[in-house]
Amino acid sequence: MEKTYDLVVVGCGAMGSSVAYHAASSGMKTAVIEQFGLNHKNGSSHGKTRIFRIVYSEGPEYVPMLRRALALWKRLEKASGKRLITRTGFMVIGKEGGPMVKGAVDSARAEGLAYSVLNSKDIISRFPEFKALDDEMGVYDPNGGVLFPERCISANVKLAKAHGAKFYFRETVQEWKEEGNAILVRTDKGEYRAKKLVLAAGPWTKKLENGMRLPLDPHRVAVFWFKKGGRAFSPKSLVPFVWELDSRNSFYGVPGVESNELKMGIHRSSYRRKIDDRPKDVEKRDLGYLREMLKDRMPDVRGPPSEKSTCIYTNTPDKDFIIDFYPGSKNVVVLSPCSGHGFKFSSVIGEIAVNMLNGKKIPYDMKFFAISRFGNVSRYGGRAKNLDG
Ligand SMILES: Cc1cc2nc3c(=O)[nH]c(=O)nc-3n(C[C@H](O)[C@H](O)[C@H](O)COP(=O)(O)OP(=O)(O)OC[C@H]3O[C@@H](n4cnc5c(N)ncnc54)[C@H](O)[C@@H]3O)c2cc1C
Repeated sequence: MEKTYDLVVVGCGAMGSSVAYHAASSGMKTAVIEQFGLNHKNGSSHGKTRIFRIVYSEGPEYVPMLRRALALWKRLEKASGKRLITRTGFMVIGKEGGPMVKGAVDSARAEGLAYSVLNSKDIISRFPEFKALDDEMGVYDPNGGVLFPERCISANVKLAKAHGAKFYFRETVQEWKEEGNAILVRTDKGEYRAKKLVLAAGPWTKKLENGMRLPLDPHRVAVFWFKKGGRAFSPKSLVPFVWELDSRNSFYGVPGVESNELKMGIHRSSYRRKIDDRPKDVEKRDLGYLREMLKDRMPDVRGPPSEKSTCIYTNTPDKDFIIDFYPGSKNVVVLSPCSGHGFKFSSVIGEIAVNMLNGKKIPYDMKFFAISRFGNVSRYGGRAKNLDG
C-alpha cells in the first residue's frame, strides 16, 4: 500500500539526516529512505572525524553559511546532549599565493574573521609536528574544530524520530516522478506519495537524476589513522590541517580529539581516481602518495597505519556544491554538497533545503550552488576549488 508524506528524503547521510531533522521539527510529516543501515561505511559521511573551519579558502560566500552551520551544530549538540563538535583551531599550510592559502586570507579579510599568518619558522615552533618547508606559510583559523560525523547523524535521526519522522533503512529508491502536485517514489519494497522530495543520495545521485546530466565525479579515496609509537599526537603539537603542495595536490590531517590517532588522507590529487576502484588498491595507492607528500613535512608519521578505510568524494567540476531545485520544479530539491568539504555545512544545508521547499527566502548567495552554472563555466579560474583535476 502506498505511504503518504509531506516530504520524502532519499538518503540518510550527513545531508539527508539533517534535512529530516529540520523538516520533522518544523512539522512536516517526513520519511527518509536509506539503502543501507544507519551510519554505514559505503558513502561519504563515516570516519570518526570531520574538519570544521570558517576561514574558508574556497570562497568568502561560504562564510555566512558557516556561521549559521556552527550555531546549528551547537543547537543540535544541546538538543541531543551529545558532544558533536569541539574547537581545536585549524591551519592551512602551503606556498604563499597558493590557492588555499590565498583563499583563506581573502575570505578572512572579506568577512572580518579572526586569523593569523605564520611563516615556516613560526609554524615549526608553534606546532612541532609540522616541518614546514622554507617557502611555506600557514593561515591559522582559531575557530576551526572537529566534528564527530556518526554522532551528528545519529543526533539528527534521533531528534527527527522524536518529531515523528519515519526512517526506512535497507530500502532502495529505484525511481521517482512528479505527477501534478504529487511526487511518486518507487523503492524495491513499496511506493510512496509525497508533496515534496529531497534527493540527498551522495555518490549515487546520478542514478536518480532523471535527465539532469549533472557533471558529478564520485571517486573512492582512502583514509588512514596513525599512532605515534603508541602515544598520542599531542593536540599541542599539531591542529587539524590541510597542506597544499601545489594547486592540484594536497593532504589533510585530523588529530583524534578523543583518541590518540591522527587521521590522514589525500584531499586533492593530480592522478585520476574512480568510484569503482577496489578499496584495497585505493588504500595501497593513496598510502604511497601520502607518504611521498609528507616524508619531509611530517617525519613522525611513520610505520603502518593502525587503521584504514575508504570513503567517497563526489566532486563537481568547480568543487562548489549543488543545492538547487530540480529544473522546472519547486517541490524537488537536489543536494550534492560534497567535493570533499561538505560535512561541516550539513547542519545548515538541511535548514536551507526545508526553507526552499517551504518557499522561504534563503539569506545566502545560492547562485554558486545552482545546477544552471554547469551550462556556464564563468566560475572557473583563479580559485582553490577550480584548480585540481
Ligand atoms: C574521506 C573524506 C573526508 C572528508 N573530510 C571532510 C572534512 O574534514 N570536513 C568536511 O566538511 N567535509 C568532509 N568530507 C565531505 C563530507 O563528508 C561530505 O560532503 C558529506 O558526508 C556528504 O554527505 P551526503 O549526505 O551528501 O552523502 P552520503 O553520506 O554518501 O549520503 C548519501 C546517502 O544516500 C543513500 N542513498 C543513495 N542512493 C540511494 C537510493 N537510491 N535509495 C536509498 N538510499 C540511497 C546512501 O546509501 C547514503 O547513505 C569528507 C569526505 C570524505 C569522503
